[in-house]
Amino acid sequence: MDSLQFRDAADKAIDEIATYYDTLAERPVLPSVAPGYLRPLIPSSTPENGEPWDQIQADIERVIMPGLTHWQHPKFMAFFPCNSSFPAMLGDMYSGAFNAAAFNWICSPAITELETVVMDWVAKLIALPDVYLSEGEGGGIIQGTASEVVLTALVAARERFIRRRLADMPEGEEKMDKAADMRGKLVALGSEHAHSSTQKAAMIAGTRFRTVPAPREAGFSVTAAALRKTIQDIRAKGLEPFYFTATLGSTATCAVDDLVGIALLTKEYPDVWIHVDAAYAGSALVCPEYQHLCPPLAAFDSFNFNLHKWLLVNFDCSAFFIKKRKDLIDTYSITPSYLRNDYTESGLVTDYRDWQIPLGRRFRSLKVWFVLRTYGVNGLRAFIRNHVHLGEYFHDLIKSRNDIFSVVTKPAFGLVTFQIHPTSSIAAAGMDPAFASNAEAQHREDLNLATKQVYEKINSKGEFFLTSSVVCGVYLIRVVSASLSAEEKYLNMVFEALVEAAEEGRV
Ligand code: PLP
Repeated sequence: MDSLQFRDAADKAIDEIATYYDTLAERPVLPSVAPGYLRPLIPSSTPENGEPWDQIQADIERVIMPGLTHWQHPKFMAFFPCNSSFPAMLGDMYSGAFNAAAFNWICSPAITELETVVMDWVAKLIALPDVYLSEGEGGGIIQGTASEVVLTALVAARERFIRRRLADMPEGEEKMDKAADMRGKLVALGSEHAHSSTQKAAMIAGTRFRTVPAPREAGFSVTAAALRKTIQDIRAKGLEPFYFTATLGSTATCAVDDLVGIALLTKEYPDVWIHVDAAYAGSALVCPEYQHLCPPLAAFDSFNFNLHKWLLVNFDCSAFFIKKRKDLIDTYSITPSYLRNDYTESGLVTDYRDWQIPLGRRFRSLKVWFVLRTYGVNGLRAFIRNHVHLGEYFHDLIKSRNDIFSVVTKPAFGLVTFQIHPTSSIAAAGMDPAFASNAEAQHREDLNLATKQVYEKINSKGEFFLTSSVVCGVYLIRVVSASLSAEEKYLNMVFEALVEAAEEGRV
């Protein structure tokens, strides 16, 4: 394909993409294909001779569309959103065009420098404490996903812990043996509701993993007292907690751990690295009404949120902020001769390879820059506030039928969780206490079962896509409507579908 053919193909592709967005609501949100649907639709090997673009593009509708789950669809209310926007797509297009693996500053100064500046913009936009700005000892870097960030932070925490403990030992075999022994005793911590990425990171890093209880009575949040007790219990066993993921917006219910209390704990446990995972909810910090959550972040070591979830930047884009970039560089900077250059030696430039696990990196800051400039602070705030409003709107709908629904968690960052009342339940009140606790347990099981049945009915119809979760033994349905095309009318529709599914079979 030469540049003339590229112009023609790109025109047609962009035209098709724009039409896709304009007509998205007319498609079913979920595909109806069976596993393995795709293989028979395309040849079993690479064509001998190249094909013209028209022939290739035609397969988007024929082969790809039938198997797509449409994440930008207004009836997609599952997981968390994965928002896209046209300026972000343009950023990705340029990134693809320049196609650099910009690991060192000299590999493309614009790529490094724009990322540093744009991450400072983002830090200021969400009112992160100044310690996370690049002007001081901190800074931001873009990673692909929150899971990568958590792994990067956890491994840096492990190595910082060991560096500190063995600071007085001379380098050599003995120190390496001692470090290896210590690694075997390290324990990473996360809320029982923390995203699975913390457990996975601990597994990859070869450390142990323990959860901190966050019961329903505590709003599914980790309190400072619960964290302290877990740390003390682990230490009593001769093990060393070295890392904790605090969550700002848990996956199941959008719970926020007690950041203020945990910030105070950092004085007691200065060697425990605290990372705040705000993968989804962090975007809400663009709004002043959420920024009261930010001051305690100054006490922690690192923070991340995914602009690809709720801030209109196409996947992938997880902003990772670090208070002391030296903590990353001391772990990840390994400079063989082929990576040496005068700029690196001068110490005047940032080489982002020293802040992360991979070497090469894409030009992701371009799409962030385009989005921030296209929407501006006010546009981004309006975008978030609309979804927060929709969460409250849906909550009111659910509450209006408390004969059917029972709210588990009130709207938090646009997410509402609820259960369905079973058709019949055994009233525990007034019973012999010996039977009452059995009856309560039975009632909880009935609630879970009724909720699961309704959830499965809704998703099997394919008109809406929702997710469910189990927290502290409670099976709940989650509804979060936060795409660019989200509107009250779609929440009315899903509410009616839920009522209908719950009422089916009721007497
Ligand atoms: N952390 C939280 C709180 C999440 O909700 C999620 C995903 O929804 C993740 C981490 C993982 O995100 P990623 O896909 O970017 O790794």
